Order: sequence, then C-alpha cells, then structure tokens
Amino acid sequence: MSKPSQLPLGMLAFCERCGAACKTAKTDPSARLLRTSETPKGYCLECAVTEFLQTTPPICYLFGKGDAVDPREAAYARKTGMDADLDGQKRGASVLLLPQVRVQMAAMFRAGRAQADERDINWCKVIEMWDLPLVTGKGRKGAKP
Ligand SMILES: [Zn+2]
Repeated sequence: MSKPSQLPLGMLAFCERCGAACKTAKTDPSARLLRTSETPKGYCLECAVTEFLQTTPPICYLFGKGDAVDPREAAYARKTGMDADLDGQKRGASVLLLPQVRVQMAAMFRAGRAQADERDINWCKVIEMWDLPLVTGKGRKGAKP
C-alpha cells in the first residue's frame, strides 16, 4: 500500500458523503480547516463545510445541532439567543443564504486559515444536502464528540 505522499495529485476521488467527483490536491499544512486531501478519502468542499457547521460549537447551535456538546457553550448559545427558535421553528440551513451570514462565514474561514476559498462553495448544494448523514470525521454516527 502506498503512503499518502506517494499518491499522484489530481487523482479522481469521490466524496464519501454525497458521491461528488473530486480530485486530490496538495494539502496546506498551515490551513486549519477545509484542507484539500492528498488521498482519495474524505468529503467534497460542500460536505466538508457542512460537517464543520454541524459539528463545531457554538456554530452548530445555530442549526439546532450539537446540543449539550459543551454545557458552557450551550449556556452561551442560550444566553445570546443563538439556539432560539425563529418564528417557532428551528433555524435551518437556509440561513446560509443570508448575506450577513455569508460575510460572517467568509470571515470565519479566513480566521481559520481555510485552504478552500469561500467563493468556491456552492451554498445551494450545502443546503440541498444538509440532512445527508455525516459518514466520516467527528460528525459521523457513533463518533465521540
Ligand atoms: Zn460531498
């Protein structure tokens, strides 16, 4: 079996969550999130964004995910209203289409030194596939938080 560094870059890969075709690419070790993979395993950009948003407190509270991952963060979310219902319904992924939310997402990805460019994210695809289960990483079913 080859080591990851011996695999050719630009190799065809398929997202383990949605099946989208992707290509392997050089990983930026200084990036803290949304890194490309040198191996044909993992998620496409949209599924990686989804996993980040659904599993990272306190952001996940916006979407009604990650309840009680950390009691202090859950309390903060309650205090600031991040976990509040909106007109009687939990906020869903559709908030990702709001311009002010997108500005905050871009700032967050820059602060996190994301390898991916926020402008490359297909937010409609993120919303369409929001409820697909996470199958790898910290958000997969049965994973420890
Ligand atoms: Zn995907």
